[in-house]
Amino acid sequence: MAISKRIVLRFPRNLVDQPIIYRLVRDYDLLFNILKASVTPKEEGLLVLELRGEQKNYEKGVKYLTEVGVEIQPLSRDVYRDEVGCTHCGACITICPTGAFALEPSTRRVNFLDEKCIACGLCIKACPPRAMEMRL
Ligand code: SF4
Ligand code: SF4
Repeated sequence: MAISKRIVLRFPRNLVDQPIIYRLVRDYDLLFNILKASVTPKEEGLLVLELRGEQKNYEKGVKYLTEVGVEIQPLSRDVYRDEVGCTHCGACITICPTGAFALEPSTRRVNFLDEKCIACGLCIKACPPRAMEMRL
């Protein structure tokens, strides 16, 4: 059965320049569409992919990714903001790879556009009052 899934991949620094995605295509016959790619301040790679292929190949491909040290997250994780805890400091604006935070110039408040969030988790560590949280 053919499936299509959107996942977030996090590459540790030592894997950033390895041909890992190429192997997903060559060895597991998976098609991919890159939805977002970036390098975090710690020089980890962050890739949001749509992967398409046969279910069994997808499972083998995911197993391969895990074995080589790539961290995988489904996009279904839910990120939310504690509106009382947020101090609108703006630290999350530059760190978010998808632009899910925007400064409202008239009020100097930071809006959270959750529809843009890919659940990478970067803002959770970066938020000084720990106002960003992830439901697992
Ligand atoms: S880093 Fe945290 S406290 Fe600062 S604006 Fe973003 S969510 Fe609010
Ligand atoms: S988890 Fe935070 S940093 Fe990552 S995409 Fe969502 S809002 Fe942006």
